This record gives sequence, structure tokens and C-alpha cells, in this order.
Amino acid sequence: MNCNCTPNKSIKCDVTNCAHHCGTEDYCSLSCVHIGTHEANPTLDQCTDCKSFKKR
Ligand code: SF4
Repeated sequence: MNCNCTPNKSIKCDVTNCAHHCGTEDYCSLSCVHIGTHEANPTLDQCTDCKSFKKR
């Protein structure tokens, strides 16, 4: 995986398909992420999205 990735220990993430994911460590490398929703009235965790996601 990408070795120059600096994991942000404040942003835990399991989305290994994202270009910002740290690969061997389950953290995001960004200093800040944008979380949003695709629902009008979100009620479950799956209603939320990481809008900073970028395909690896
Ligand atoms: S941008 Fe979002 S989906 Fe991608 S690694 Fe960071 S927190 Fe995970």
C-alpha cells in the first residue's frame, strides 16, 4: 500500500477502496473530512456518506 500516507488517528475508517485510506492502518490520511447524507431524514448510520471519498 501507499507508504507516504500519514494516518489521522482522529479519523478511523474501513473504506480500503478510497484513495485517502491508509491501507495497512484503518485510518484516513486527510486532516479533515466532509460527512453528509443522501437522505432527507437520516435515521441510521448507513444514511450517512463520506463526501471526501475518492476512488483509489
Ligand atoms: S475520505 Fe472518507 S472514505 Fe476516504 S479514507 Fe477518508 S474517511 Fe474514509
